[in-house]
Amino acid sequence: MTSYSTRLVRVNPQNVAALLADTPSVRDTILRAAAAGCKLPGSDPRALAHSWLFTGPPGAGRSTAALALAAALMCTDQPGQGCGACESCRGILQQRQHTDLVFISPQELSIGVAGVREMIHQAASLPTVAPYRVVIFDNADRLTDEAANALLKTVEEPSSSTVLVLCAPTDAPEDFSQTLRSRCRHLYIPAPSVERIVEILQAEGHSPQDARLAAVTSLRHVGRARRLVSDPMAQRRRAAAINLAESVFHGSGGYAAATGLLAAITKEAKEAYQEADAKEIAAVELAYGAGAKGKGAAKAQREAKSAVKRVEELQKKRATRRLRDLLDLALVDLAGIYRDALMVKVGANVEMTHPDFAGLAQELAAKVSEEGLVAAQDAIRTCRNHIANNVGPALAFDGLVGRLRQACGAR
Ligand SMILES: [Zn+2]
Repeated sequence: MTSYSTRLVRVNPQNVAALLADTPSVRDTILRAAAAGCKLPGSDPRALAHSWLFTGPPGAGRSTAALALAAALMCTDQPGQGCGACESCRGILQQRQHTDLVFISPQELSIGVAGVREMIHQAASLPTVAPYRVVIFDNADRLTDEAANALLKTVEEPSSSTVLVLCAPTDAPEDFSQTLRSRCRHLYIPAPSVERIVEILQAEGHSPQDARLAAVTSLRHVGRARRLVSDPMAQRRRAAAINLAESVFHGSGGYAAATGLLAAITKEAKEAYQEADAKEIAAVELAYGAGAKGKGAAKAQREAKSAVKRVEELQKKRATRRLRDLLDLALVDLAGIYRDALMVKVGANVEMTHPDFAGLAQELAAKVSEEGLVAAQDAIRTCRNHIANNVGPALAFDGLVGRLRQACGAR
């Protein structure tokens, strides 16, 4: 199953320029940097920074852009351009694999000093075959201040054969450690157009109709569009979230629907990674020689136990983050239907967020006042803030249903 943290960029062999064609500013910056890195004639040496910060809304393709920079720097056929077809380009763009590529994607909610040690170590190593070692660090917005400080020296004076790319899914770079930001070259990666997502999904073998519906309803998030088009569970959850707008009119039914949705999301967050988590634990046990007999076995078992405990704690943190991400997505879906209803109400001629739920949008537009539809969107924003600030999901959802009922004049 595809998921946010393990999603791979699967593309037909496409060169770097074509891969980034949808965002010319990003394409040009990356190609100029790679041309400088490979000392192509006429290139401007100042175009290559050794420490980058890529920001942009979730799903915009920050990691694709970072991998494109790596491919262009390490391409063996067209150094500085990234042919997309040589072994080096294919490994990097399709599998995130190359001897001199390090892709770190921590899953914790908050990344401490221990979480950046690997990056510091990797950044200090010399490349083996390529002219550069490219170290990509995803989710850098979750670095604690201590971790950001630990990274400062690396970011400030990276080795001349290292290129660091910190990626942060945020529209507000001010969220990001000011000290780190000031030492990196900043590149903003905008969300892809709906047309571009349709193209990507079609290239992956989906029908034009399915690709379009998923692209429109994904809120221009490529990973999400991919899930919607291929994962029935994601589709069902989306429908359940949107239908909550209808359920709140039915007294206690609204609360029951919210509880059901919450349970389904919690189950999904847990199950989607159960197998991977179990494998991770088994690998740790194996590494510590679990089940060994004889001299030193007791000590080895104690060590194995504590290592497993550490991994379990990490997995718990990851699970919390996944649950929060999924809850947030459901709330964004729900907000979309009130937005659509408002557009219907004021007669705006715009593309619907949920074209497959046009009937519900019309029904809401007929039943609820303009102020009510705005208040409903405010209620959802409040709930998203509650969840982001650690309010228990059950409590946050109960409050949401109460506010939605009030906003929609339900009795
Ligand atoms: Zn190549």
